[in-house]
Amino acid sequence: MKIYDGKNFFIYGDGTSGRAALRAIKKHGGKAKIYSDKNGVFVKPKDGVYDGAVISPGIRRDHAVYDYALANKIPTTGEVEIGFAIADCPVIGVTGTNGKTTVTSLIAAMLGGTACGNIGYPITTAAEREKKVLVCELSSFQLYDAVIYPKAAVITNIEADHIDWHGSFEEYCRCKCNIASNMDGDGVLVLGEDVKVGALKTLKTEARIIRCSSVGAVDGAYIEDGFFKFFGERVCSTDYLRLGGAHNLKNALTAVAVAKSMGADNRDIIKALSTAKLDAHRVEYVGTACGKKWIDDSKATNIAACLAAVETTHDSVCLIVGGRNKGLDFEPLFRELPERVIDVIAMGECGEDVSEAAERAKFSGSVIIADRLSAAVSAATKSAAQTVLLSPCCASFDEFGNYAERGDSFKAEVNALRGRK
Ligand code: ADP
Repeated sequence: MKIYDGKNFFIYGDGTSGRAALRAIKKHGGKAKIYSDKNGVFVKPKDGVYDGAVISPGIRRDHAVYDYALANKIPTTGEVEIGFAIADCPVIGVTGTNGKTTVTSLIAAMLGGTACGNIGYPITTAAEREKKVLVCELSSFQLYDAVIYPKAAVITNIEADHIDWHGSFEEYCRCKCNIASNMDGDGVLVLGEDVKVGALKTLKTEARIIRCSSVGAVDGAYIEDGFFKFFGERVCSTDYLRLGGAHNLKNALTAVAVAKSMGADNRDIIKALSTAKLDAHRVEYVGTACGKKWIDDSKATNIAACLAAVETTHDSVCLIVGGRNKGLDFEPLFRELPERVIDVIAMGECGEDVSEAAERAKFSGSVIIADRLSAAVSAATKSAAQTVLLSPCCASFDEFGNYAERGDSFKAEVNALRGRK
């Protein structure tokens, strides 16, 4: 007896996760077919009796496919839910505004498992291969109404992001908290130290909550005297961590908390910390050009991520921000920036919004508007700052296909400047 025997689904969205869901449903006894918009218009699935609609997390809730499912009383689900259902090993869920990918990779390395989900490897595909433990990165879109049962879960932090999609910060928080809604008393929910109480208003869980602190002892996971500690036990020295920046120390701490609660060996934790490597476009040093250091943090698409990146710098900074605004108010950015940030280049579609926010916040540095990334790089060469940091607080879609393209383009621009030196 297979889990989807006799079940019939339609899948909406012809992307990687939709195709992975199709394979998984068929492998587990069910039938499924993929549909997607044609020229931006909803394509109605063939008439039939459907047990479920697997809808891509990128599709907005006001899309006609949701009306169709509701009108025909077809329960909606997602690829992630299917992945949790078919996995025959424990699954750990990781969400939060920032640090998801880093924490997911660290936990997978500590436990000798597989990182999957929003990280770019569909959980349904990973579930077919992995027998030990899956560590699944989950976005707020994937968590909107997902019914999932993680063995352990993490919320790294919750800050303003994706407000254009969710409609409000409260709704965004609700989605994040949904990671733990169906956990039972055997489960563990690790809360990163930057998760504020106000963001947890809708958190309802049976899971045991473990708190983290990088600034001294708590009843949970913490850093004290240069050691990662877990309920009083010394796990290892923080010196083992290869990743720089206070934010990565916090990321490592949450990963240690999950790994220890899953019974990891301290030697495996040490190995993971000492071999950890960040993926590209995460506070990535590009090189020197025009007498300045250039850093690519294209993955930072909200204000909290940008501030964490600025914290990793030590000298004067020219900060490149902008792109497509996700419904954020940039004033808090300018209120929090240290004085070392002497120039801000406001680029792309929301350059004017950024500049107006700087004025409202009475930012002491200068703000230069640039229509696109190449113009921003060119303006940055004229700054007196010692470091140029691309950490845009915005999505890239006004000019690029994704954050990686934006980062690659930035690196190419910088390398061209280096060639001219
Ligand atoms: P995510 O997968 O949530 O986008 P990543 O691990 O890919 O997170 O990191 C993306 C960017 O977010 C980094 O380049 C850095 O600027 C910022 N960042 C990472 N971890 C944290 C954290 N714990 N707190 C604040 N910002 C962070």
